[in-house]
Amino acid sequence: MKKLLTLLAAAVCVVSCSQRPANVEIIPVQDNANPRMMPRALFAEAPDSLFESLGLQEGIPSSVCAFLAKTDGKNILFDAANGAPDSRLMGVLESCGVAPDAVDYIFITHLHGDHIGGLMKDGTAAFPAADLYVNKVEYDAWMAMGEEQSASLRAIAQAYAERLKIFTLEDELPCGVQAIAAYGHTPGHTAYRIADALIVGDIMHGVALQLEYPQYCARFDADHEQSVRVRKEILQMGKENGLTLYGMHFPEPYYIR
Ligand SMILES: [Zn+2]
Repeated sequence: MKKLLTLLAAAVCVVSCSQRPANVEIIPVQDNANPRMMPRALFAEAPDSLFESLGLQEGIPSSVCAFLAKTDGKNILFDAANGAPDSRLMGVLESCGVAPDAVDYIFITHLHGDHIGGLMKDGTAAFPAADLYVNKVEYDAWMAMGEEQSASLRAIAQAYAERLKIFTLEDELPCGVQAIAAYGHTPGHTAYRIADALIVGDIMHGVALQLEYPQYCARFDADHEQSVRVRKEILQMGKENGLTLYGMHFPEPYYIR
């Protein structure tokens, strides 16, 4: 009987591990070479008195980050930062022993330039072997914006060709990654859960303000009402499930628990 129970426990473990990898290492990749502050003016709805009481008059500490996840021998990138000349992305990946062609999957939270700029290098795909995952809601919204707004996306789509995977929330994603609708900052802004990590994209641009006062948006949020609701929901989801939240504009150490 004891042996049977042990076998059953092992079987259950195998099933749950393959669906949701337990062994995931998340490595924040700070892309910005110089310190980043989000200016006070970005948060026009928040009163001066609040900024003063929080000591944030000079701005809110921030960053531009991508995240590398290592699991089951696969290298996964969440976003690709902005690809500016002083971008640290490739250097940090190299220091982690991950060559550009060793990135297997890239999941995009949304299509702002500071999240997709690093996908291209000298007019070609910076990650020549990676499958690139973009939520269909986000993809369609940007494609509908017209030639100028969607120029970067069109170039990326051409460069990644059949490796560009447009998905819906019903689709199963590789490595047990789960996409979560976090619409508001952009039309199809998407969070991703992998094991106990939640990659939350741009739900907060100023953690020192918005963690405690989620009702205030940065100017970058396209739909303020929806962004506020989503920010509260994602923070609640993290709390209820004991998840670690990784944000693309969180200050060091780039996550909150
Ligand atoms: Zn951003």
